[in-house]
Formats: sequence, C-alpha cells, structure tokens
Amino acid sequence: MDELTDEQWMARARDLAVARKGADPANTPIAAIIVRDGQMLAHGVNRTAERCDATAHAEVMAIRAAGEAIGAMRFPGTTLYSTLQPCGMCTMASIWAGISRIVYGAGRGDVHSMYFEDRHLSTLDFVVDAYKDDLTLSGGVLSHDCARLYYRPWDTVPEEQQAND
Ligand SMILES: [Zn+2]
Repeated sequence: MDELTDEQWMARARDLAVARKGADPANTPIAAIIVRDGQMLAHGVNRTAERCDATAHAEVMAIRAAGEAIGAMRFPGTTLYSTLQPCGMCTMASIWAGISRIVYGAGRGDVHSMYFEDRHLSTLDFVVDAYKDDLTLSGGVLSHDCARLYYRPWDTVPEEQQAND
C-alpha cells in the first residue's frame, strides 16, 4: 500500500476528532496522530475538560501514547498531525519528544482567539526562530474541514467555554 498523503492523514485526524468528541465546537474536538514510516504510532484527542487537566491537549495525549507504544521518550523521524495549530506547550512537547515534523489543519487565523493563550506570538515564529533545525512545521492542510470543528473568529463564544481549550 502506498503511504498516505498529508491530506489523508489529516482526514483521519479530523475523523478521529469527530468520532471521539462529535462535531460541536463546545466539545473541543481536537485530534492528533503521530506517524512514522507510513504507520500510525499513536493518536490522541483533547481531554482537558474530562480529566480536569490543562495539559491534556490532543498532541500531548498522542505523545504520551506514542511513548508508551514504543517504550521511548523520544521518537525522531515522526510526523505529528493535528487538526488545529499546536499551542506553545504542545510545540515544546514535540521538541522534547524529538518529533521531526508537525503538520496542522486549521491555523490560528481560522479560529477564535480563545484557542491561543498568547497575544501575538505564533508557534510558527517560535519554532522558526529557536528550533528550525529540529522541527519543521506546516499548516493549512484541510484547513477548512478542520476549522469547521471549532469556534470561528466571528463567533460569540460563551464566557464559560472560553477556558475550554
Ligand atoms: Zn496544545
């Protein structure tokens, strides 16, 4: 079987998000998949609300699952696919995990500002400035399909949901 394209992996991540969390933005359907040599090593979905754990982002859940699956804390040569541009925490976690490539769907311009904790620092700039040799980052893969799962920039989000990222 031919290896899947970035678009095909992203479609799987989006389908995983919807299968586990539904398509309502109120449930924060964010999913991440870690792939090596054309095979899925691990996956995760956002569990911050369910676990009362601010670090339980989809990417961190996938990194934890990948570490358990392969018995190592670093997994160079892997690609992490995420339906939403990773935050600073997840970008740093990816660096610590030795992930080689991040590909994301919806970018910060596609979604409500509640999804990003910073005012103007993009993880793209962060990685390019500080870690360009270790990690490459690209986005916009199926961005429209992915962005549909989240509150959009023009949406009015209830106050109580704004911490639910
Ligand atoms: Zn994150």
